[in-house]
Amino acid sequence: MGRRSRSVLLAFLLAGLGLLVVLSPVLHRPAPLPIPPSTTPQPDTAPAAPPDFGPLVDVATLDPSIVIDLRYARDDNIVGRQLYPVNRALLLPSVAERLVRVQARLREHGYGLKVWDAYRPPWVQRELWAAFPDPRYVADPARGSNHSRGAAVDATLVHADGNELEMPGDYDDFELGRRDHPAHSELARRHLEILTEAMVSEGFIPYEGEWWHFNAPEAARYPILDIPLEGS
Ligand SMILES: [Zn+2]
Repeated sequence: MGRRSRSVLLAFLLAGLGLLVVLSPVLHRPAPLPIPPSTTPQPDTAPAAPPDFGPLVDVATLDPSIVIDLRYARDDNIVGRQLYPVNRALLLPSVAERLVRVQARLREHGYGLKVWDAYRPPWVQRELWAAFPDPRYVADPARGSNHSRGAAVDATLVHADGNELEMPGDYDDFELGRRDHPAHSELARRHLEILTEAMVSEGFIPYEGEWWHFNAPEAARYPILDIPLEGS
């Protein structure tokens, strides 16, 4: 290699070194600094916590195909005014699950459930007793109702699409309440049989004095609960 060649090589090496020095900040770009959290308040996008019903669950969240039509959430009931602030059927989880299984059985045959009452707060039981103090039809609040334990359901049979069927009578029609009342039509009796068979298959115990009332097995062993229907 001649002197001239060495000079050219040296020039190239120096130029390359210079390029490295120039590019160094680019090639070794420092990691970006973490962005400090913003101090401006952000809109609250977190989903609202579900209402707390204590040990009870909302039947509609387990099976929205069950029609919920609580008569004490309306004013056409034996008291003549709305008692429940919301149309919400709450039950103990094991009782609600039985009811969901009843609904599945009925839907196989083109039927479904309509719930007229489920959990009933004790203050409502006192109102009902004040209006109708007859222990054949309304539980004495001093003893407590299985409804207030979340362990009883008032239900009727409907078409799978929710439409009414002929039944022995209306809710709280105590005149026609007895399951074996001779005035029930043949069709109403047959529909009641379908309802009763599905409920009994899942462990519910019918009440002779009110065809619409069904207790969960061992309902009385559960405590009376004082819970707002709208949650807390
Ligand atoms: Zn009842």
